[in-house]
Amino acid sequence: MRSGAELVRGALSLVQGLGVTLRAMVARPVTVPYPRASATLPPGFRGWPVLVREPDGAVRCVACGACARACPSQCLRVDAAAERGSGGRRRPQAFLLDISRCSLCGTCADVCPAGALAYSRVRCAAARSRDAFLTDLLNMPEEAP
Ligand code: SF4
Ligand code: SF4
Repeated sequence: MRSGAELVRGALSLVQGLGVTLRAMVARPVTVPYPRASATLPPGFRGWPVLVREPDGAVRCVACGACARACPSQCLRVDAAAERGSGGRRRPQAFLLDISRCSLCGTCADVCPAGALAYSRVRCAAARSRDAFLTDLLNMPEEAP
C-alpha cells in the first residue's frame, strides 16, 4: 500500500519527465534529416586530402613521398613519373589514396614541403566495394564535389 507522500513524489516525477519531453519537442533541432537536408559545413571542415593545382592545372606536388611516409594509416602511395615536368621538377605519375582508411588527420598536408595538399569539402563517401575507395587524386579536381 502506497503512502500519500509516495504518490505525490511519483506524480511530481511524472510531471518533471513530461516537462523534459515537452522542452525537447519545442527546442530548435541540433540535427538535420540527412539525406533530405545537409548541415552547413564550418570553414575549417576537413574532408579527405586533395592535390592543390596551379592556375594552369598542373599539380604542385613534386613527388617527394614525404606525405606517404608520414601517413599514420599508410593509405597514401605516390609514384614519381620517370620524366620531369616543367623547370625540371619531379612530378607524380600516380597519387593513390585509399579513402576508406584515411582518418582525416591532416598529417600529410602538414608535412608537405610544397603546400601541395589541401582538404576537400567532401563529407561522405560510399562505394560497393573496398577497391572502389582507392582513388588516384591526379584524376580528381582540387575541390572534389
Ligand atoms: S589525412 Fe592522415 S590518414 Fe588521411 S591520407 Fe593524410 S596523413 Fe593519411
Ligand atoms: S609531401 Fe607534398 S610534394 Fe611530397 S609527395 Fe606528398 S603531396 Fe607531393
